[in-house]
Amino acid sequence: MPALAAVAAGLTLFAAPAAPAPIAPVTSASVGAQVVPAAFDPAATPQANRATVTVTAQAAGTLQVDVVTAGGIVVRALLAPTAVTAGQTQTLTWDGAGVPDGHYAVRARLTDAAGAVQESLTPVTRDGADPVVTVPAPAPSVTARGPVRVRATATDLSGATAMRLVVESQLGVEIGTVKMPAPVDGASELAWNLRVKGRLLLPGAYRLRVAADDAVGRRGQGEAHLLRVERAVTSTQIYRLPEAGAKVALTFDDCLDTGPWLQLLAALRRARVKATFFCNGVNVRSNPQAARRTVADGHTIGSHTWSHPWMTQKDAGEQRSQIRGDREIWWSVAKASPGPFFRPPYGDVDAGVRASAGAEGMAWTVLWDVDPSDYLRPSVGVLVDRVVSKARPGSIVVLHVEANTAAAVPGMVRGLRAQGLQPVSLDELFGRASYLARARRG
Ligand SMILES: [Zn+2]
Repeated sequence: MPALAAVAAGLTLFAAPAAPAPIAPVTSASVGAQVVPAAFDPAATPQANRATVTVTAQAAGTLQVDVVTAGGIVVRALLAPTAVTAGQTQTLTWDGAGVPDGHYAVRARLTDAAGAVQESLTPVTRDGADPVVTVPAPAPSVTARGPVRVRATATDLSGATAMRLVVESQLGVEIGTVKMPAPVDGASELAWNLRVKGRLLLPGAYRLRVAADDAVGRRGQGEAHLLRVERAVTSTQIYRLPEAGAKVALTFDDCLDTGPWLQLLAALRRARVKATFFCNGVNVRSNPQAARRTVADGHTIGSHTWSHPWMTQKDAGEQRSQIRGDREIWWSVAKASPGPFFRPPYGDVDAGVRASAGAEGMAWTVLWDVDPSDYLRPSVGVLVDRVVSKARPGSIVVLHVEANTAAAVPGMVRGLRAQGLQPVSLDELFGRASYLARARRG
């Protein structure tokens, strides 16, 4: 019985909220109206922002045309009583001004010489609102390869006509969209295989949304749900990414103290630059406010292990738990994942460390090609000089979360830009390779 109860609860959750029904049409042999389009958005472009009403009287008499509610209340007079001959047509428009969104009807009323009244009702919908999209949490919320079941309902006056799953990075960058089955009564369900444009999502954390279009061309979007992808991958070691073009990744390691960390975030915000933070788990745990701010500001995060050991001195089990601990503290503190980027402390890496990083979902083992030794605290001028003089297209610069380094950020950014190089985060440097597995080679 508990299983049945769960099924019933699930169905209840999925049921589309009741939307008011359109008014049922009423036809008459003597008088009729055509309304095009049957639903319109008063805020749409000219032509599409109104309904054109064509009324034809089949007999002579007095014609009156109104827009009415389901209860027969007139909200707009379209044609005052007018004498018409048999076969005469009147073309009128209704722009919906002054009335709320809803289902209405065009009522055409013909009174003949004997006083007999004939009437038709033709439905028309004023829809100036975006579809309201409801998406229960996709299941499962942690997976290796899917499928993930995504269900959505859209409540809308003119009706949802199309829905798509929008896949975003944990920072809210759109990675791509996946078409969902055509909605039926506003509901659609997708069993998603974690592929975007044919490529599988890399391990990491993502945000899933569902967007719906309605019959008048409005778009609504539901709240985002988090999805964690966790599986073993092959970790690729990289020092520089020349194919990224005129971009240089500034990366900041360790994150020991809150003060310098917040100073660095402020300097990056002022410079309008996104960067990357490779923080140790112990430091994420003791600086949760700065950790959350880092993610909220849109910076890439990567794993730098839990406690900064020489990784080649550890066995595989310890290596993996060092990375896993860092990954889990980021999740509990900031609901974010450092995957798929891993930086070994001291750059101490061998095939075994790479294998452990891959086993924990770190597709990229990120070293560097520019090291200005900022941890020795050279003067700001010297530090800026070292970075700017050595950076090339696709360079990865290793820096540390320190007050002295934060003070050098404006100079580094100016100097790089003066050379035509754009300081970026690893997400921005890698682009799709931050999120999607490489295409399989044929
Ligand atoms: Zn370090």
